[in-house]
Amino acid sequence: MIVVKFGGTSVGDAAAIDRAASIVRGRMPGRPLVIVSAMSGVTNALIDISDQASRGQLVLAVRGVEALREKHLQALADLVPDESVASEVGAELSASFDDLARLAEALSVLGYCTARSQDALVAQGELLSSQLVTAAFQVRGIPAEFVDARQVMTTDDRFGRAEPQVDAIAERARERFLPILREGRIPVAGGFIGATAEGVTTTLGRGGSDYSASLFGAALQADAIEIWTDVDGMLTADPRVVPTARLIERIRFDEASELASFGAKVLHPSTITPAVRRGIPVYVYNSRRPDGTGTLITSDAPRRPVSAIAAKSQTTVVKLRSARMLLAHGFLRTVFEVFERHHISIDVIATSEVSLSVTLDHAENLEALLVDLRGLGDVSVERGRGIVSIVGAGLTDASNAMARAFTALGDVRVHMASVSATGINLTLVLDADQVTPAMQRLHDAFFGAAPAAP
Ligand code: ADP
Ligand code: ASP
Ligand code: MG
Repeated sequence: MIVVKFGGTSVGDAAAIDRAASIVRGRMPGRPLVIVSAMSGVTNALIDISDQASRGQLVLAVRGVEALREKHLQALADLVPDESVASEVGAELSASFDDLARLAEALSVLGYCTARSQDALVAQGELLSSQLVTAAFQVRGIPAEFVDARQVMTTDDRFGRAEPQVDAIAERARERFLPILREGRIPVAGGFIGATAEGVTTTLGRGGSDYSASLFGAALQADAIEIWTDVDGMLTADPRVVPTARLIERIRFDEASELASFGAKVLHPSTITPAVRRGIPVYVYNSRRPDGTGTLITSDAPRRPVSAIAAKSQTTVVKLRSARMLLAHGFLRTVFEVFERHHISIDVIATSEVSLSVTLDHAENLEALLVDLRGLGDVSVERGRGIVSIVGAGLTDASNAMARAFTALGDVRVHMASVSATGINLTLVLDADQVTPAMQRLHDAFFGAAPAAP
Protein backbone atom coordinates (compact mmCIF):
# COMPACT_ATOMS: atom_id res chain seq x y z
CA MET A 1 0.00 0.00 0.00
CA ILE A 2 1.02 3.64 -0.31
CA VAL A 3 0.15 6.81 1.57
CA VAL A 4 -0.99 9.76 -0.53
CA LYS A 5 -1.12 13.04 1.38
CA PHE A 6 -2.63 16.25 0.03
CA GLY A 7 -1.71 19.58 1.64
CA GLY A 8 -4.03 22.55 2.12
CA THR A 9 -3.75 24.07 -1.35
CA SER A 10 -4.09 20.62 -2.93
CA VAL A 11 -7.60 20.39 -1.42
CA GLY A 12 -8.11 24.18 -1.33
CA ASP A 13 -11.18 24.38 -3.55
CA ALA A 14 -13.38 22.24 -5.79
CA ALA A 15 -10.94 22.33 -8.71
CA ALA A 16 -8.06 21.21 -6.47
CA ILE A 17 -10.11 18.38 -4.95
CA ASP A 18 -11.07 17.31 -8.47
CA ARG A 19 -7.36 17.14 -9.38
CA ALA A 20 -6.69 15.16 -6.19
CA ALA A 21 -9.38 12.67 -7.25
CA SER A 22 -7.66 12.15 -10.62
CA ILE A 23 -4.32 11.62 -8.88
CA VAL A 24 -5.82 9.04 -6.51
CA ARG A 25 -7.58 7.27 -9.36
CA GLY A 26 -4.20 6.87 -11.07
CA ARG A 27 -2.78 5.47 -7.80
CA MET A 28 -5.51 2.88 -7.20
CA PRO A 29 -3.33 -0.14 -8.14
CA GLY A 30 -0.92 0.89 -5.35
CA ARG A 31 -3.77 0.70 -2.74
CA PRO A 32 -3.63 4.24 -1.38
CA LEU A 33 -4.48 5.52 2.08
CA VAL A 34 -5.38 9.19 1.58
CA ILE A 35 -4.47 11.82 4.18
CA VAL A 36 -5.65 15.40 3.79
CA SER A 37 -4.93 18.75 5.44
CA ALA A 38 -7.63 21.31 6.11
CA MET A 39 -8.54 23.38 3.03
CA SER A 40 -5.93 26.15 2.64
CA GLY A 41 -6.43 29.07 5.01
CA VAL A 42 -8.83 27.14 7.24
CA THR A 43 -6.43 26.36 10.11
CA ASN A 44 -5.40 30.03 10.31
CA ALA A 45 -9.07 31.08 10.20
CA LEU A 46 -9.90 28.67 13.04
CA ILE A 47 -7.06 30.04 15.16
CA ASP A 48 -8.37 33.58 14.51
CA ILE A 49 -11.84 32.45 15.54
CA SER A 50 -10.57 31.05 18.83
CA ASP A 51 -8.56 34.25 19.51
CA GLN A 52 -11.50 36.49 18.70
CA ALA A 53 -13.96 34.45 20.72
CA SER A 54 -11.73 34.34 23.78
CA ARG A 55 -11.21 38.13 23.53
CA GLY A 56 -14.99 38.50 23.67
CA GLN A 57 -15.36 39.45 19.99
CA LEU A 58 -18.10 36.89 19.48
CA VAL A 59 -19.71 38.65 16.50
CA LEU A 60 -16.42 38.53 14.59
CA ALA A 61 -15.83 34.91 15.57
CA VAL A 62 -19.32 33.83 14.47
CA ARG A 63 -18.83 35.70 11.21
CA GLY A 64 -15.61 33.67 10.76
CA VAL A 65 -17.50 30.42 11.35
CA GLU A 66 -20.12 31.44 8.78
CA ALA A 67 -17.40 32.24 6.20
CA LEU A 68 -15.98 28.74 6.73
CA ARG A 69 -19.44 27.20 6.39
CA GLU A 70 -19.89 29.06 3.12
CA LYS A 71 -16.47 27.97 1.81
CA HIS A 72 -17.05 24.28 2.51
CA LEU A 73 -20.67 24.19 1.34
CA GLN A 74 -19.72 26.02 -1.86
CA ALA A 75 -16.98 23.46 -2.56
CA LEU A 76 -19.47 20.68 -1.80
CA ALA A 77 -22.04 22.11 -4.21
CA ASP A 78 -19.39 22.40 -6.93
CA LEU A 79 -18.10 18.88 -6.33
CA VAL A 80 -21.35 17.00 -5.75
CA PRO A 81 -24.02 18.01 -8.28
CA ASP A 82 -26.58 15.48 -7.03
CA GLU A 83 -28.68 17.53 -4.61
CA SER A 84 -29.82 14.70 -2.39
CA VAL A 85 -26.24 13.42 -1.88
CA ALA A 86 -25.02 16.99 -1.37
CA SER A 87 -27.65 17.73 1.23
CA GLU A 88 -26.85 14.54 3.13
CA VAL A 89 -23.13 15.39 3.26
CA GLY A 90 -23.98 19.05 3.91
CA ALA A 91 -25.93 17.99 6.99
CA GLU A 92 -22.88 16.09 8.30
CA LEU A 93 -20.65 19.10 7.70
CA SER A 94 -23.19 21.45 9.25
CA ALA A 95 -22.92 19.55 12.52
CA SER A 96 -19.25 20.60 12.65
CA PHE A 97 -20.17 24.24 12.07
CA ASP A 98 -22.79 24.14 14.80
CA ASP A 99 -20.12 22.65 17.10
CA LEU A 100 -17.75 25.43 16.08
CA ALA A 101 -20.31 28.14 16.78
CA ARG A 102 -21.03 26.62 20.20
CA LEU A 103 -17.33 26.37 21.01
CA ALA A 104 -16.83 30.03 20.04
CA GLU A 105 -19.70 31.04 22.28
CA ALA A 106 -18.26 29.06 25.20
CA LEU A 107 -14.84 30.68 24.73
CA SER A 108 -16.34 34.15 24.69
CA VAL A 109 -18.08 33.46 28.00
CA LEU A 110 -14.87 32.08 29.53
CA GLY A 111 -12.74 34.91 28.17
CA TYR A 112 -9.75 32.66 27.55
CA CYS A 113 -8.76 29.70 25.41
CA THR A 114 -6.65 26.81 26.65
CA ALA A 115 -4.46 24.83 24.27
CA ARG A 116 -6.90 21.96 24.78
CA SER A 117 -9.92 24.02 23.68
CA GLN A 118 -7.99 25.40 20.74
CA ASP A 119 -7.15 21.88 19.57
CA ALA A 120 -10.84 20.91 19.74
CA LEU A 121 -11.68 23.90 17.58
CA VAL A 122 -8.79 23.73 15.11
CA ALA A 123 -9.22 19.96 14.52
CA GLN A 124 -12.53 20.72 12.82
CA GLY A 125 -10.57 21.90 9.75
CA GLU A 126 -9.20 18.43 8.96
CA LEU A 127 -12.46 16.71 9.96
CA LEU A 128 -14.36 18.87 7.49
CA SER A 129 -11.88 18.50 4.63
CA SER A 130 -11.62 14.72 5.01
CA GLN A 131 -15.41 14.32 4.93
CA LEU A 132 -15.72 16.65 1.95
CA VAL A 133 -12.94 14.88 0.03
CA THR A 134 -14.49 11.46 0.80
CA ALA A 135 -17.83 12.58 -0.67
CA ALA A 136 -16.16 14.09 -3.75
CA PHE A 137 -14.16 10.90 -4.36
CA GLN A 138 -17.25 8.70 -4.00
CA VAL A 139 -19.18 10.78 -6.53
CA ARG A 140 -16.25 10.30 -8.91
CA GLY A 141 -16.45 6.52 -8.59
CA ILE A 142 -13.55 6.16 -6.14
CA PRO A 143 -14.51 3.76 -3.31
CA ALA A 144 -13.49 6.15 -0.54
CA GLU A 145 -14.33 5.66 3.13
CA PHE A 146 -14.02 8.38 5.76
CA VAL A 147 -12.04 7.48 8.88
CA ASP A 148 -11.90 9.83 11.86
CA ALA A 149 -8.11 10.15 12.26
CA ARG A 150 -8.52 10.69 16.01
CA GLN A 151 -9.39 7.00 16.34
CA VAL A 152 -5.95 6.11 14.98
CA MET A 153 -3.53 8.92 15.84
CA THR A 154 -3.05 8.35 19.57
CA THR A 155 -0.95 11.05 21.23
CA ASP A 156 0.06 12.32 24.65
CA ASP A 157 -1.77 15.35 26.03
CA ARG A 158 0.68 18.09 25.11
CA PHE A 159 -2.07 20.06 23.38
CA GLY A 160 -0.99 22.08 20.37
CA ARG A 161 2.15 19.98 19.83
CA ALA A 162 1.14 16.50 20.90
CA GLU A 163 3.59 13.61 20.77
CA PRO A 164 2.36 10.58 18.77
CA GLN A 165 2.41 7.20 20.55
CA VAL A 166 3.92 5.02 17.86
CA ASP A 167 2.93 1.59 19.19
CA ALA A 168 -0.71 2.51 19.78
CA ILE A 169 -0.87 4.13 16.34
CA ALA A 170 0.54 1.02 14.66
CA GLU A 171 -2.06 -1.16 16.33
CA ARG A 172 -4.97 1.13 15.55
CA ALA A 173 -3.82 1.79 11.98
CA ARG A 174 -3.87 -1.93 11.35
CA GLU A 175 -7.31 -2.23 12.94
CA ARG A 176 -8.93 0.73 11.19
CA PHE A 177 -7.19 1.08 7.82
CA LEU A 178 -6.21 -2.46 6.82
CA PRO A 179 -9.72 -3.98 6.59
CA ILE A 180 -10.78 -1.11 4.32
CA LEU A 181 -7.68 -1.49 2.13
CA ARG A 182 -8.13 -5.27 1.97
CA GLU A 183 -11.63 -4.79 0.58
CA GLY A 184 -10.18 -2.66 -2.21
CA ARG A 185 -11.52 0.56 -0.75
CA ILE A 186 -9.64 3.77 0.04
CA PRO A 187 -9.55 5.16 3.57
CA VAL A 188 -9.57 8.97 3.72
CA ALA A 189 -8.51 10.64 6.99
CA GLY A 190 -7.40 14.06 8.19
CA GLY A 191 -3.74 14.67 8.97
CA PHE A 192 -2.54 16.81 11.90
CA ILE A 193 -5.26 15.71 14.33
CA GLY A 194 -5.20 13.05 17.01
CA ALA A 195 -6.57 12.19 20.42
CA THR A 196 -5.25 11.12 23.80
CA ALA A 197 -5.87 7.56 24.98
CA GLU A 198 -8.91 9.00 26.79
CA GLY A 199 -10.27 10.37 23.51
CA VAL A 200 -9.54 14.09 24.01
CA THR A 201 -8.76 15.83 20.68
CA THR A 202 -5.14 16.95 20.10
CA THR A 203 -3.08 18.35 17.21
CA LEU A 204 0.53 17.64 16.17
CA GLY A 205 1.65 21.23 15.57
CA ARG A 206 1.48 23.38 12.46
CA GLY A 207 2.17 21.54 9.21
CA GLY A 208 1.64 18.23 11.02
CA SER A 209 -0.29 16.45 8.25
CA ASP A 210 3.00 15.36 6.65
CA TYR A 211 3.93 13.79 9.97
CA SER A 212 0.56 11.97 10.14
CA ALA A 213 1.14 10.61 6.64
CA SER A 214 4.56 9.23 7.50
CA LEU A 215 3.46 7.83 10.88
CA PHE A 216 0.59 5.97 9.23
CA GLY A 217 2.89 4.87 6.40
CA ALA A 218 5.43 3.47 8.88
CA ALA A 219 2.65 1.79 10.88
CA LEU A 220 1.39 -0.01 7.77
CA GLN A 221 4.84 -0.69 6.22
CA ALA A 222 3.87 1.37 3.17
CA ASP A 223 5.79 0.98 -0.08
CA ALA A 224 5.91 4.76 -0.48
CA ILE A 225 4.74 7.98 1.13
CA GLU A 226 3.68 10.66 -1.33
CA ILE A 227 3.41 14.29 -0.22
CA TRP A 228 1.38 16.28 -2.75
CA THR A 229 1.85 20.04 -2.41
CA ASP A 230 1.93 23.32 -4.36
CA VAL A 231 5.55 23.26 -5.60
CA ASP A 232 7.38 20.83 -7.90
CA GLY A 233 9.13 19.03 -5.03
CA MET A 234 11.93 19.93 -2.65
CA LEU A 235 13.75 22.84 -4.21
CA THR A 236 17.19 24.32 -3.64
CA ALA A 237 15.49 27.09 -1.58
CA ASP A 238 12.00 28.35 -0.77
CA PRO A 239 10.82 29.67 -4.15
CA ARG A 240 8.94 32.46 -2.37
CA VAL A 241 12.28 33.83 -1.19
CA VAL A 242 14.50 32.73 -4.09
CA PRO A 243 12.45 32.67 -7.29
CA THR A 244 15.32 30.95 -9.16
CA ALA A 245 15.24 27.92 -6.84
CA ARG A 246 15.52 24.60 -8.68
CA LEU A 247 14.04 21.16 -8.24
CA ILE A 248 16.11 18.56 -6.37
CA GLU A 249 15.18 15.26 -8.03
CA ARG A 250 16.78 13.02 -5.41
CA ILE A 251 17.90 13.80 -1.90
CA ARG A 252 19.04 11.76 1.08
CA PHE A 253 16.87 11.30 4.16
CA ASP A 254 19.36 13.07 6.41
CA GLU A 255 19.62 16.11 4.17
CA ALA A 256 15.83 16.37 3.70
CA SER A 257 15.43 16.06 7.44
CA GLU A 258 17.94 18.86 8.16
CA LEU A 259 16.27 21.08 5.57
CA ALA A 260 12.84 20.50 7.10
CA SER A 261 14.16 21.15 10.62
CA PHE A 262 15.87 24.35 9.56
CA GLY A 263 12.89 25.93 7.82
CA ALA A 264 12.01 24.19 4.52
CA LYS A 265 8.29 24.24 5.24
CA VAL A 266 7.53 21.86 2.36
CA LEU A 267 7.95 19.03 4.91
CA HIS A 268 7.09 19.01 8.60
CA PRO A 269 10.40 18.51 10.47
CA SER A 270 9.35 15.12 11.91
CA THR A 271 8.18 13.63 8.60
CA ILE A 272 11.37 11.83 7.75
CA THR A 273 11.94 9.99 11.05
CA PRO A 274 9.21 7.31 10.74
CA ALA A 275 10.07 6.80 7.05
CA VAL A 276 13.77 6.28 7.78
CA ARG A 277 13.00 3.80 10.53
CA ARG A 278 11.20 1.60 8.00
CA GLY A 279 13.25 2.58 4.93
CA ILE A 280 10.16 3.90 3.13
CA PRO A 281 10.85 6.25 0.22
CA VAL A 282 9.17 9.66 0.46
CA TYR A 283 8.13 11.49 -2.70
CA VAL A 284 7.19 15.17 -2.93
CA TYR A 285 4.99 16.09 -5.90
CA ASN A 286 3.13 19.11 -7.25
CA SER A 287 -0.62 18.44 -7.34
CA ARG A 288 -1.03 21.12 -10.03
CA ARG A 289 1.49 19.33 -12.25
CA PRO A 290 1.00 15.65 -11.49
CA ASP A 291 3.23 14.55 -14.37
CA GLY A 292 6.33 16.23 -12.93
CA THR A 293 9.25 14.14 -11.67
CA GLY A 294 8.95 15.45 -8.11
CA THR A 295 11.57 14.74 -5.47
CA LEU A 296 12.49 11.28 -4.24
CA ILE A 297 13.88 11.14 -0.69
CA THR A 298 15.77 7.92 0.12
CA SER A 299 18.89 6.75 1.93
CA ASP A 300 20.99 6.37 -1.21
CA ALA A 301 20.58 9.60 -3.18
CA PRO A 302 23.77 11.11 -4.61
CA ARG A 303 26.00 13.21 -2.32
CA ARG A 304 26.43 16.79 -3.36
CA PRO A 305 28.58 19.45 -1.68
CA VAL A 306 25.50 21.62 -1.21
CA SER A 307 21.93 20.44 -1.85
CA ALA A 308 19.81 23.33 -0.65
CA ILE A 309 19.49 26.36 1.60
CA ALA A 310 16.78 26.77 4.22
CA ALA A 311 15.90 29.64 6.52
CA LYS A 312 13.83 30.71 9.48
CA SER A 313 13.10 34.35 9.94
CA GLN A 314 12.06 34.36 13.59
CA THR A 315 14.43 32.93 16.12
CA THR A 316 15.53 33.96 19.57
CA VAL A 317 19.07 33.64 20.88
CA VAL A 318 19.67 33.01 24.58
CA LYS A 319 23.21 33.60 25.87
CA LEU A 320 24.53 32.38 29.17
CA ARG A 321 27.87 33.53 30.59
CA SER A 322 29.30 31.94 33.65
CA ALA A 323 32.77 31.67 35.13
CA ARG A 324 31.60 28.37 36.66
CA MET A 325 31.60 26.91 33.18
CA LEU A 326 35.36 27.15 33.00
CA LEU A 327 36.67 23.58 33.26
CA ALA A 328 33.59 22.51 35.21
CA HIS A 329 32.32 19.01 34.60
CA GLY A 330 28.60 18.63 34.22
CA PHE A 331 27.85 22.32 33.77
CA LEU A 332 26.36 21.89 30.31
CA ARG A 333 24.24 19.03 31.55
CA THR A 334 22.83 21.27 34.28
CA VAL A 335 22.00 23.91 31.68
CA PHE A 336 20.33 21.45 29.31
CA GLU A 337 18.30 20.01 32.15
CA VAL A 338 16.80 23.46 32.65
CA PHE A 339 15.69 23.54 29.01
CA GLU A 340 14.32 20.03 29.28
CA ARG A 341 12.38 20.86 32.42
CA HIS A 342 10.66 23.72 30.57
CA HIS A 343 10.04 21.63 27.41
CA ILE A 344 11.94 24.16 25.32
CA SER A 345 13.91 22.65 22.46
CA ILE A 346 17.15 24.10 21.23
CA ASP A 347 18.07 24.49 17.55
CA VAL A 348 21.66 25.70 17.31
CA ILE A 349 24.36 25.68 19.98
CA ALA A 350 27.72 27.44 20.20
CA THR A 351 29.99 27.36 23.24
CA SER A 352 33.23 28.88 24.46
CA GLU A 353 35.11 28.33 27.72
CA VAL A 354 32.78 30.62 29.65
CA SER A 355 29.70 31.12 27.52
CA LEU A 356 26.94 29.24 25.79
CA SER A 357 24.63 30.53 23.05
CA VAL A 358 21.54 28.69 21.88
CA THR A 359 18.74 29.49 19.46
CA LEU A 360 15.09 28.72 20.09
CA ASP A 361 12.17 28.49 17.67
CA HIS A 362 9.40 28.81 20.14
CA ALA A 363 10.09 31.76 22.36
CA GLU A 364 6.76 31.91 24.14
CA ASN A 365 6.70 31.60 27.92
CA LEU A 366 10.44 32.08 28.33
CA GLU A 367 10.20 33.85 31.68
CA ALA A 368 10.22 30.74 33.87
CA LEU A 369 13.17 29.33 31.89
CA LEU A 370 15.12 32.56 32.26
CA VAL A 371 14.57 32.65 36.02
CA ASP A 372 16.15 29.19 36.30
CA LEU A 373 19.00 30.01 33.92
CA ARG A 374 19.83 33.17 35.86
CA GLY A 375 20.63 30.90 38.77
CA LEU A 376 23.55 29.60 36.66
CA GLY A 377 25.04 32.81 35.28
CA ASP A 378 24.40 36.06 33.40
CA VAL A 379 21.66 35.63 30.83
CA SER A 380 20.80 37.77 27.83
CA VAL A 381 18.07 37.31 25.25
CA GLU A 382 18.31 38.54 21.66
CA ARG A 383 15.08 38.55 19.69
CA GLY A 384 14.66 39.45 16.04
CA ARG A 385 17.26 37.00 14.78
CA GLY A 386 16.98 34.58 11.87
CA ILE A 387 18.78 31.44 10.78
CA VAL A 388 20.11 30.42 7.39
CA SER A 389 21.23 26.81 6.92
CA ILE A 390 23.27 25.43 4.08
CA VAL A 391 22.74 21.70 3.76
CA GLY A 392 24.78 19.22 1.77
CA ALA A 393 26.12 15.74 2.37
CA GLY A 394 29.53 16.79 1.04
CA LEU A 395 29.60 20.21 2.68
CA THR A 396 32.66 19.57 4.80
CA ASP A 397 34.41 17.39 2.16
CA ALA A 398 34.32 20.21 -0.35
CA SER A 399 37.13 22.30 1.04
CA ASN A 400 35.90 25.56 -0.38
CA ALA A 401 32.18 25.40 0.47
CA MET A 402 32.55 27.27 3.76
CA ALA A 403 34.79 29.89 2.25
CA ARG A 404 32.32 30.40 -0.59
CA ALA A 405 29.49 30.80 1.89
CA PHE A 406 31.24 33.50 3.90
CA THR A 407 32.47 35.28 0.77
CA ALA A 408 28.93 35.29 -0.65
CA LEU A 409 27.54 36.78 2.57
CA GLY A 410 29.80 39.82 2.17
CA ASP A 411 28.81 42.46 4.71
CA VAL A 412 25.94 40.44 6.25
CA ARG A 413 26.67 40.26 9.98
CA VAL A 414 26.93 36.70 11.32
CA HIS A 415 26.13 36.43 15.04
CA MET A 416 26.71 32.73 15.41
CA ALA A 417 27.84 29.83 13.20
CA SER A 418 27.62 26.12 13.76
CA VAL A 419 28.48 23.02 11.73
CA SER A 420 26.45 19.93 12.59
CA ALA A 421 28.33 16.88 13.88
CA THR A 422 27.32 15.02 10.73
CA GLY A 423 28.96 17.77 8.71
CA ILE A 424 25.94 18.21 6.46
CA ASN A 425 24.63 21.47 7.86
CA LEU A 426 26.26 24.88 8.27
CA THR A 427 23.91 27.15 10.20
CA LEU A 428 24.36 30.88 10.52
CA VAL A 429 22.46 33.18 12.87
CA LEU A 430 21.81 36.60 11.35
CA ASP A 431 19.63 39.64 11.97
CA ALA A 432 16.11 38.67 10.88
CA ASP A 433 16.02 41.36 8.18
CA GLN A 434 19.20 39.93 6.62
CA VAL A 435 17.74 36.46 6.08
CA THR A 436 16.23 37.12 2.64
CA PRO A 437 19.27 38.87 1.11
CA ALA A 438 21.56 36.23 2.63
CA MET A 439 19.46 33.42 1.12
CA GLN A 440 19.57 35.06 -2.27
CA ARG A 441 23.32 35.65 -2.18
CA LEU A 442 24.09 32.13 -0.98
CA HIS A 443 21.78 30.63 -3.59
CA ASP A 444 23.45 32.62 -6.35
CA ALA A 445 26.86 31.49 -5.10
CA PHE A 446 26.04 27.78 -4.93
CA PHE A 447 23.43 27.33 -7.66
CA GLY A 448 23.91 30.33 -9.95
CA ALA A 449 21.25 32.91 -10.70
CA ALA A 450 19.81 31.12 -13.75
CA PRO A 451 16.01 31.09 -13.95
CA ALA A 452 14.22 27.95 -12.76
CA ALA A 453 13.02 25.51 -15.40
CA PRO A 454 9.45 26.38 -16.53
P1 ADP B 1 1.09 22.06 2.05
O1 ADP B 1 -0.10 22.86 2.40
O2 ADP B 1 0.97 21.31 0.77
O3 ADP B 1 1.56 21.19 3.19
P2 ADP B 1 3.13 23.99 2.70
O4 ADP B 1 2.75 25.42 2.50
O5 ADP B 1 3.14 23.46 4.08
O6 ADP B 1 2.24 23.11 1.74
O7 ADP B 1 4.59 23.73 2.07
C1 ADP B 1 4.84 24.09 0.73
C2 ADP B 1 5.60 25.39 0.69
O8 ADP B 1 6.89 25.19 1.28
C3 ADP B 1 5.92 25.90 -0.68
O9 ADP B 1 4.86 26.65 -1.23
C4 ADP B 1 7.19 26.73 -0.46
O10 ADP B 1 6.93 28.11 -0.40
C5 ADP B 1 7.69 26.28 0.90
N1 ADP B 1 9.10 25.87 0.88
C6 ADP B 1 10.04 26.29 1.76
N2 ADP B 1 11.23 25.76 1.49
C7 ADP B 1 11.07 24.96 0.41
C8 ADP B 1 11.95 24.13 -0.35
N3 ADP B 1 13.24 23.99 -0.07
N4 ADP B 1 11.42 23.45 -1.40
C9 ADP B 1 10.12 23.55 -1.71
N5 ADP B 1 9.24 24.34 -1.04
C10 ADP B 1 9.70 25.03 0.02
N1 ASP C 1 -3.82 22.26 8.62
C1 ASP C 1 -2.64 22.19 9.47
C2 ASP C 1 -1.86 23.49 9.36
O1 ASP C 1 -2.23 24.37 8.60
C3 ASP C 1 -1.79 21.01 9.21
C4 ASP C 1 -1.16 20.93 7.83
O2 ASP C 1 -1.56 21.67 6.92
O3 ASP C 1 -0.25 20.11 7.65
O4 ASP C 1 -0.89 23.66 10.04
MG1 MG D 1 2.60 21.63 4.94
